[in-house]
Amino acid sequence: MSVPTIKHLRAFVVRGGGADYHDQGGGHWIDDHIATPMARYPEYRQSRQSFGINVLGTLVVELEASDGTTGFAVTTGGEPAAYIVEKHLARFVEGAKLTDIEKIWDQMYFATQYYGRKGLVVNALSGVDLALWDLLGKWRREPVHHLLGGAVRPELQFYATSSRPDLSKKLGFIGGKMPLHHGPAEGEEGLQKNIAELAEMRARVGSDFWLMFDCWMSLELNYAIKLAQRAHEHGLKWIEEALSPDDYWGYAELKKQAPRGMLVTTGEHEATRWGFRMLLEMDCCDIIQPDVGWCGGMTELIKISALADARGALVIPHGSSVYSYHFVITRHNSPFAEFLMMAPKADEVVPMFNPLLLDEPVPVQGRLGVGALDKPGFGVRLNPACTLHRPYTH
Ligand SMILES: [Mg+2]
Repeated sequence: MSVPTIKHLRAFVVRGGGADYHDQGGGHWIDDHIATPMARYPEYRQSRQSFGINVLGTLVVELEASDGTTGFAVTTGGEPAAYIVEKHLARFVEGAKLTDIEKIWDQMYFATQYYGRKGLVVNALSGVDLALWDLLGKWRREPVHHLLGGAVRPELQFYATSSRPDLSKKLGFIGGKMPLHHGPAEGEEGLQKNIAELAEMRARVGSDFWLMFDCWMSLELNYAIKLAQRAHEHGLKWIEEALSPDDYWGYAELKKQAPRGMLVTTGEHEATRWGFRMLLEMDCCDIIQPDVGWCGGMTELIKISALADARGALVIPHGSSVYSYHFVITRHNSPFAEFLMMAPKADEVVPMFNPLLLDEPVPVQGRLGVGALDKPGFGVRLNPACTLHRPYTH
């Protein structure tokens, strides 16, 4: 059977929302005094944009095959990722068969290993990998979830991440994850404010609705243990990314000391099968949360998920919209998915990568039927109203 080759790879940058969901205007809940590792400096405490969280912007990787089929994907990484994709990774893609996904991944990873392994380089590589899956699906005229083994459930179920779990409950979600607002530098007073916010939200949503804290790497071990113990009284379901992603030892201790029944979750800033093997073998958490746009793409998520499955750990991918949905619906150890509420006041459902994609499906009453994913590739298109900038060529 003749398989087209990949003729062109192009990398673009887009500003304002899209895959770089921190790149929002003022007054958005996602930039409102959220605890971070930089919050120890008062001048960087009020806003994550103040220390540059949105400095990179969105990366768009576009592929064109010899038969005219096109595929694309979006992730973060902006201009430096576009440089890596154009100047380094393109050589492994152009001229290859569009079915050579595993080989291309291997070549991209090992060719960049001496300066890569995690972070920006793996973001860039993930963008290329997702574009390859989209291209393969478009060429075969099948959704990516078919290529991954097919749906194991008729629909996806979602929890929502936002500052307003009470509104998420009204919108039909199964739970609400709130950003932690006060870090260790704000002392006992900050800790009390965190607990008071949780208690107030618990009163609003009742006892059955899931509530979680996303700590965005902001805590140290003792604070995290104290927070977990006090939050347990208010039925906190999980404590997410409490510590630095490099502190595997801290996570192992936190999991040991967390109150019985409270889950420890992490992994959105972890990458590759080797990084997740460390989290799993050191017993760092109950749920791993790889972001398919950051962890090495779909090709790597398959491997990460298999490791977790064999150890009885759940995989609940971080955000990433359709790129996660096509995977989650094919795996029993991914029983639900995350939805990031991107409306500035978290009071309505808008597409997660708004305004960059057209046809991006969103949950209705906290659910999404598999039919919404039954389009070739990842089933989305680039919005022509968004300006793409190509900073480098090759
Ligand atoms: Mg998180």
